[in-house]
Amino acid sequence: MRRATESKDIMETTLNIKKIREDFPILQTLVHNKPLVYFDNAATTHKPKAVIDKVAEYYLETNSNIHRGVHLLSQKATSEYEAAREKVLKFINAKKLSEIIFTKGTTDSINLVASSFGRAFIKEGDEILISYMEHHSNIVPWQILCETTGAKLKVIPINDDGELIMEEYEKLLSPRTKLVSIVHISNSLGTINPVKKIAEIAHEKDIPVLIDGAQGIQHSKVDVQDLDCDFYVFSGHKLYGPTGVGVLYGKQRLLEQMPPYQGGGDMISKVTFEKTKYNTLPYKFEAGTPNIVGVIGLGTAIDYMNGLDTENLFNYEHELSEYAHEKFRNSFPGLTIIGNAKEKTGIISFILEGIHPHDIGTILDFEGIAIRTGHHCTQPVMDRFGVPATARLSLGIYNTREEIDYAVNSIKKVYEVFG
Ligand code: PMP
Repeated sequence: MRRATESKDIMETTLNIKKIREDFPILQTLVHNKPLVYFDNAATTHKPKAVIDKVAEYYLETNSNIHRGVHLLSQKATSEYEAAREKVLKFINAKKLSEIIFTKGTTDSINLVASSFGRAFIKEGDEILISYMEHHSNIVPWQILCETTGAKLKVIPINDDGELIMEEYEKLLSPRTKLVSIVHISNSLGTINPVKKIAEIAHEKDIPVLIDGAQGIQHSKVDVQDLDCDFYVFSGHKLYGPTGVGVLYGKQRLLEQMPPYQGGGDMISKVTFEKTKYNTLPYKFEAGTPNIVGVIGLGTAIDYMNGLDTENLFNYEHELSEYAHEKFRNSFPGLTIIGNAKEKTGIISFILEGIHPHDIGTILDFEGIAIRTGHHCTQPVMDRFGVPATARLSLGIYNTREEIDYAVNSIKKVYEVFG
């Protein structure tokens, strides 16, 4: 592999990162009178002007409820909402529109599956298999399900580099395993999991697989047919789209057997007091007025991504990540990176000997640098590595080497302050 430093300006210039940065108005903001350097992309990404304009345009020119109106604005809102479904389908290469369900986000999508798949398929003594590196939103919904059904949660261990131990995974699959639910890319370690292989192994035993793509969708090309996963979930706000919107992709065969998650308008075809007939997919799972503008904005975020050279952009992110790792490792003797998987994305979670991560975050904030400190909603990962918290930089498509250099110099100031 090329060393990150050798290809320094080639990628940035070819991809025109400067132009991409201009698409994101917030990057011009000053924070404590310093230019904003945003390294909190795993928490949420910024929005390109195209998305912001679309959201404003929707409220200025369209704003109406969908599916039920005969008037022009309602029809326009409906067709833009449904067009976004088609954009998602193409973006992740799903087979059918009926397999794309709009939710509030990753957390909501996982809760939907835990509740609905749970009611259809899980009983006492069954097992759900997750991993040690899951976000709380891929732990707690399964614990709630286990509490109500008497099923058991099993956990695949990880090694000291933060990689799944695949032999243990295979050993943990049993005739009682009813679902495997695994994160695509870990938000606290950066590990890219071999999700295609994971699905293949589970499918040999006819076990469905859910992939938490909250950090996968914006850093890799996702093809749900190629992955052959049964469910893939993600949030709009981590894909340069609005908050409060997300996607549940599910194979039709499974979605059809699953009962509704919530009852209400739009998810029905006929209601009487004696019996209600549910709507067809995907509407069966979209009760009530959805986040219409969020869905439409997500569609625009997907258009935006489609307009970029994403293949090279993902390579660029990877090289930027290698550059950051090298810089961090070589600049600070007391610095430990938590998560050193061979397959890793642009997440640098670290601790500095004798300095609390919150202090690092606060000092960097005064330099205009936004990072995240804490447990990153992955407390079991923190326990596994024996740390209460880490400081985390997470990269996005608009970050640059100059920003990494600036962060390294600013961390030197943290050392100065804390001796
Ligand atoms: N899973 C992972 C891996 C995440 O990084 C996150 C967000 N940090 C979530 C799930 C939850 O996403 P949301 O809060 O958008 O529902």
